[in-house]
Amino acid sequence: MLCLACSAPGSPLCFACEQSLQRAPGRIVGTRDLRVGVSPVFVHREAAARLVHNLKYRRSIKAGELLAAHMADLVPLDADALVPIPRVLARRVSYGIDQTTVLARLISDLTGIPVRRLLRIGVWHRRSAGLDRQHRPVPVFEIRGPISRQPVLVDDVCTTGSTVVGAALALGFSRIQAVVASSATGIPGRQS
Ligand SMILES: [Zn+2]
Repeated sequence: MLCLACSAPGSPLCFACEQSLQRAPGRIVGTRDLRVGVSPVFVHREAAARLVHNLKYRRSIKAGELLAAHMADLVPLDADALVPIPRVLARRVSYGIDQTTVLARLISDLTGIPVRRLLRIGVWHRRSAGLDRQHRPVPVFEIRGPISRQPVLVDDVCTTGSTVVGAALALGFSRIQAVVASSATGIPGRQS
């Protein structure tokens, strides 16, 4: 059996990859009026980054299962829906996988909490003054279908938090939780 991150001998991860995993602390993003509690599993580096990459670009469902098993532990007990944050359509088509929906479905298999694909990505982005300290555009999402009482957002990587803030804005929540596979805060060259 080969490592799901680097393909060296070892299962599900080789020793070096296992050792490189680093748990990431939870954090709050948004503003005083809109707070998203982000619960990441790992720091987005080494094996954790490779697992996300292998899910996304190599369609490795096994890598997704490993991440989802850890993410499931972070879902609040009172959650009533798992809401994947969609990616830009063109990307999804070219890569052939909607990684956040895959993660949400795998978490659903473990927790019994249903997946609700409530968000559709809008066709344009805007800058949202005051919401984003780093002046990154906040993605605009459209809603489809009725919103449940305690949805939890599901994403693969969280960097500035602008994506989860955009999702919270669209859903109309001033407080919401997000479960993500990895957190790339402070790691240069990552955005989402
Ligand atoms: Zn490895």
